[in-house]
Amino acid sequence: MLYLKNFIGGTYVDPVEKKYFDNVNPATGEIISKIPASNEKDIALAVDAAIKAQESWANSTLEVRFAILNKIAELIDSKLNDLAIAETRDTGKAIRHSQQIDIPRAASNFRFFATAAMQFASDSHEMPGKAINYTLRQPIGIVGCISPWNLPLYLFTWKIVPALATGNCVIAKPSEFSPTTAYLLGEICNEAGLPPGVLNIIQGYGHEAGEAIVMHPTIKAISFTGGTKTGAHIASIAAPKFKKMSLELGGKNPCVIFADCDYKEMVKQVIRLAFSNSGQICLCGSRILIENKIYEQFKNDLILEVKKLIPSDPENPESKMGSLISQQHLNKVMSYIELAKEEGGKLLCGGTLFKPDGRCANGAFVMPAIFEGLGPDSRCNMEEIFGPVITLQPFENEEDAIRLANRSNYGLAATLWTQNLNRAHRVSQQLKTGIVWVNCWLLRDLRTPFGGMNDSGVGREGGWEAMRFFTEAKNVCINFGPL
Ligand code: NAD
Repeated sequence: MLYLKNFIGGTYVDPVEKKYFDNVNPATGEIISKIPASNEKDIALAVDAAIKAQESWANSTLEVRFAILNKIAELIDSKLNDLAIAETRDTGKAIRHSQQIDIPRAASNFRFFATAAMQFASDSHEMPGKAINYTLRQPIGIVGCISPWNLPLYLFTWKIVPALATGNCVIAKPSEFSPTTAYLLGEICNEAGLPPGVLNIIQGYGHEAGEAIVMHPTIKAISFTGGTKTGAHIASIAAPKFKKMSLELGGKNPCVIFADCDYKEMVKQVIRLAFSNSGQICLCGSRILIENKIYEQFKNDLILEVKKLIPSDPENPESKMGSLISQQHLNKVMSYIELAKEEGGKLLCGGTLFKPDGRCANGAFVMPAIFEGLGPDSRCNMEEIFGPVITLQPFENEEDAIRLANRSNYGLAATLWTQNLNRAHRVSQQLKTGIVWVNCWLLRDLRTPFGGMNDSGVGREGGWEAMRFFTEAKNVCINFGPL
């Protein structure tokens, strides 16, 4: 049995208390490794290692940071298959997803922020004849990064790389449901020449290892991606300690479909945006709003397509949909399917447990579900399910569509399907979400601000937003004239 370790000061170490828990492959129910149940003692060791590395890393040249981060990207590319299989075994996601999306994107994160380090610049403000102000953008020092299980290495690196690129040392924790690729990243960092202590990776439960990161007085900023309730709890600890916080939280994203859209392309994309990674992407659309005129046609076409989506062994290269992340999460998703029926929803397809033949017979599989007839204020239209469950709601006109789309307390991402240019701009302006995709979904430019409003979080990641988050701005005012 493989016992995973923490990565502290460039070395793999056992957790101080030598406690472990099981890492289960959710597609088979097998225990695949043991995960360190780290706590505040392990975090203290990681912080000590980071303190030793901090000054030298903060003063490293941009060329050095670029070269190391870029080398890590190359190494991730060269280990694509090993990393992809590890991601799939931890999460049950289809191997093609790990190979084509998760791991390549982790490499892109390193490449992107390596070059960002070389290009990042600060402002100066001239007071004519009197003084010049210039802004220093200095590393915060030691920062904490906590990530979820749905896109494990992809989101883990989306946080840690801008932190490293701006000269910080990092204490990072992956989700306890997806520890392996972060574990493997340690040796990749050593191979690339990242100095010991610059990145420390601690495994364990959120309420122990994660909370110890948030509590530690030397860790001055927390970048967190995960559930809204967890985010609120973290904020309640970090805010009174005046830590900088970036919170990327849940969503209940609307997909707004007008009759004037490119219908064929829209149907194809709705399948993707609703059911990719079994609906376990924070950006997935789950409230599908359709203009009345095409509601029946769309409903029938969608049902036909969704019926073809049958989950299967995620390690099969042909698999398009794997299992959910855990039996526990499957139970949560199934409870929402029951709730939707109790709330008066009509189940149009799927929504039943699924048992593939062979080695996946004990896996956490569910057939993708479509409901109609649920009111906009029903719990199933207000709460995040985070699984392959969508609801259909008709609307009459633009005003009605915007009202329904904005009904949610969340505000992460919306998609909008129309060929009318004026409408695309008009509706985009009125949607209360941090991201609007028009006639596309998950088309990502890493320079753009990424994040949500309201219950979907605080702050933005991506591009300069991330580089700014991980730096302290200091204004230096130099007088050169009479006062
Ligand atoms: P989660 O909140 O349960 O856990 C996320 C991370 O926080 C894990 O590493 C966990 O161990 C840690 N954690 C849990 N309790 C903690 C505590 N008390 N203190 C510190 N750390 C703690 O979320 P999850 O189930 O892993 O992920 C799914 C959620 O993440 C969904 O709500 C999804 O929408 C959201 N998500 C949001 C984005 C985004 O960019 N907005 C991206 C992906 C996922």
